[in-house]
Amino acid sequence: MKVCDISDSLLRLQDLEIDARRIRAKIEDLKNRKRELIEIRKKFEKELENLKTQIEEKRFRLKDLENFIEYKKQRLKELSAKKEKVSSRKEFKNLLRQIAKTEDDIIRAREEIKTLFEELKKIENQNSEKIGKIEAQLEEVKNGIKKISEEIDKKEEELQSLKSKLSILKSEVPADILKIYESLKDRFNGLVFADISSGSCEGCGITFSPAEFAKLNREIKNGKGRCPYCGRFVFTK
Ligand SMILES: [Zn+2]
Repeated sequence: MKVCDISDSLLRLQDLEIDARRIRAKIEDLKNRKRELIEIRKKFEKELENLKTQIEEKRFRLKDLENFIEYKKQRLKELSAKKEKVSSRKEFKNLLRQIAKTEDDIIRAREEIKTLFEELKKIENQNSEKIGKIEAQLEEVKNGIKKISEEIDKKEEELQSLKSKLSILKSEVPADILKIYESLKDRFNGLVFADISSGSCEGCGITFSPAEFAKLNREIKNGKGRCPYCGRFVFTK
């Protein structure tokens, strides 16, 4: 590899690493957004469950009461049959009391069913509108999560291909220069290269004397140009 190619490789390395960093930040953003949406989804699912449970509970109670009435009707038949066969007046009176009590139970249960049924209709009306709205919102959130997941996958793929390009590039740069590059990278937050086309270093802002500038331009040609003030690799456009 020619010396002047090293500068090109390093510059390309820098650009790709900046891209990789941008993609990583983007992935982090997307993951945060996904986490938020998952929380919203959980909230909606819980609300839906509550609304449906309210209805289920009323239906369950209704069924319960209907079974209770069936049972009491059966009991009433048994008591009436017994009444035909009583031998003592005391037993007869006792049976009459039981029959009256059972009839009362049935009347009360029927009243409760009536009230419950009205409540159920009301809740069904109220909740079905809410349920519809939440289900639509939930669908939207689920789609959002799906889209973000796909976007994350896409970005992860991009990052992987960048990483393999980076490792190829790194293998092309001599180890000692790569070492300088890596240490500068940490110091300058990834921006290792500075343009000196204007006669001053865009990295540290210091203007070069004509002699310094001429020397740097010579050094750029053999790939060794670094700002004497901040140490960044330099290039001209
Ligand atoms: Zn500088």
